[in-house]
Amino acid sequence: MSANDPHRAGLFPHRHLLGIEGLQPHEILGLLDRADQAVEVSRQVEKIRPVLRGRTQINLFFEASTRTQSSFEIAGKRLGADVMNMQVAASSVKKGETLIDTAATLNAMHPDILVVRHHAAGCAVHLLARKVDCSVINAGDGQHEHPTQALLDALTIRRHKGKIARLTIAICGDILHSRVARSNIILLNALGARVRVVAPSTLLPSGIDRMGVEVFRDMKEGLKGADIVMMLRLQRERMNGAFIPSVREYYRFYGLDAEKLAYAKDDALVMHPGPMNRGVEIDPAVADGPQSLIREQVEMGVAVRMAVLEALAAHLPNH
Ligand code: ASP
Repeated sequence: MSANDPHRAGLFPHRHLLGIEGLQPHEILGLLDRADQAVEVSRQVEKIRPVLRGRTQINLFFEASTRTQSSFEIAGKRLGADVMNMQVAASSVKKGETLIDTAATLNAMHPDILVVRHHAAGCAVHLLARKVDCSVINAGDGQHEHPTQALLDALTIRRHKGKIARLTIAICGDILHSRVARSNIILLNALGARVRVVAPSTLLPSGIDRMGVEVFRDMKEGLKGADIVMMLRLQRERMNGAFIPSVREYYRFYGLDAEKLAYAKDDALVMHPGPMNRGVEIDPAVADGPQSLIREQVEMGVAVRMAVLEALAAHLPNH
């Protein structure tokens, strides 16, 4: 069965991946199954599975990224695509070109896949998707969504716990500014997990309870009986006011250390999307400890991005 097989296209009927919102549970599970296979491919000596041979993937990052950009690059190359990283800092965008002009310029080069990270929440990536002929993948848009992060987190959890449904998952820290939290809440709820958020009131978006989560303002309460403790980075670059009294106090009340982790289940696992602020939201001893899955999340990130690229391959333009 080739990547362009119409039967295969039915398995993931979307041309773009703009968010977790709008995906059906079976589509999410299908991506996780594909990603499990991609883990096997990535662990072999010969890692090429050329479903994107001859295709062009452009990574267009308007915000800095280490993990996401490099893993999309590796994922595209493992699938045989020609991958180009566009340096926005050195591009016409810096000279005042509008997003629509950038889209039209890139479109004229006939890319097949555009991987986009942009600081505007919920609009820039969607706008681009409407203006280009190729598939668009959201690699993080402001505080809105980061779909491949949520997929890689789900993959990591499922590989350890064997399931997602009925697990108690506590997402802790800077919920307000976190696209990772948003995408994870949508995905984990869709797959039947019990999702909690744990944060000081200043870092909780208003109406968060309407997203189907239990809200806690105390770490020890919020971690009680949790299967998974997912820490978030304190996103100081998105803060323009005093959201926390001081980093020291934040760490004291919300930083994950061994004492707070002891409130979770004995076999609880610790996650963090990176980049970590050691000593701010997490104690280095916990980040590097036996319950941590943080390094493994990075490996799963490549596999999930391979799975998404492969799923979209069935919808690529035949220009
Ligand atoms: N890397 C993740 C993101 O791009 C998390 C973070 O930056 O804190 O959203």
